[in-house]
This record gives sequence, structure tokens and C-alpha cells, in this order.
Amino acid sequence: MPDETSAEQVPIVGYLQLGDDPHLRANECTACGARYFDRRNACAKCGGTGFSDARVADAAVLKAYSIVHNAAPGIPVPYVSAIVETEDGTSVRSNVVGLDDPMTAELGMRVEFTTYVCGTDDDGTECVAFGYAPA
Ligand SMILES: [Zn+2]
Repeated sequence: MPDETSAEQVPIVGYLQLGDDPHLRANECTACGARYFDRRNACAKCGGTGFSDARVADAAVLKAYSIVHNAAPGIPVPYVSAIVETEDGTSVRSNVVGLDDPMTAELGMRVEFTTYVCGTDDDGTECVAFGYAPA
């Protein structure tokens, strides 16, 4: 078995924070609290230009989803493409993972942030993605 702690890991997106306590970071509008995962010059909701770095809650609820049956070669299907809303009101586009049967996904189900290795390059560096598993 490879020693997991020695493998170098890189997050699949910049707002995924790895380490002992993986989580998502968002840019939060200091005026209205709207959160964005991409870099903004101004808030789409209130036009504010001040942002702070915020941790996104791990617990979430499934708000919308679709079951994907057709995807690029190499991507296992079916999988559940979803929008979840975290406890602190952040909308996150992600996948629901860890379901024995994707057809059992349902709106309003409680899910929890999780990470998984989605690939390894020739140097052994692991690419880490995130998803939401049933809570
Ligand atoms: Zn705002």
C-alpha cells in the first residue's frame, strides 16, 4: 500500500483547500455576504467591491441535480451532477459521490463535503477533487 501522507497532492480547483482539514474557500462580499468561487471585481448582487476570504461549511443539502448518463470517455457513468447549498448558504456546483445507486439521489437530501483522488500523474502527484457524499 502506498503511504498516503507522502504523496504530493494538488487540488483540481484553486478554491479547494487541502491538508488535514480539507474544505472550500470562497470570496465573500463584505457588504452583502454573497459568495463567489471565482475572482470578482464587483459583487453581482450589490455592486460592492470589497471581498474577504471565507471558509465554506461542509454540511449541505442537495438543491438541484441531474443524473449524467453520457460523458467523455474515461468518466464513469452514471454520476450525479448537482448544486448543493451549504449550511452557511453557499451554492456549490459539484457531484454527489458515494451513492451505491445514483438513482437514489433526491432533492433535499443531506450531504457532506468530501474529497477524493481523481488522477495521478507520472510523478505520483495526486489530483484531488471534491464532491458531496450522503451525510
Ligand atoms: Zn454584495
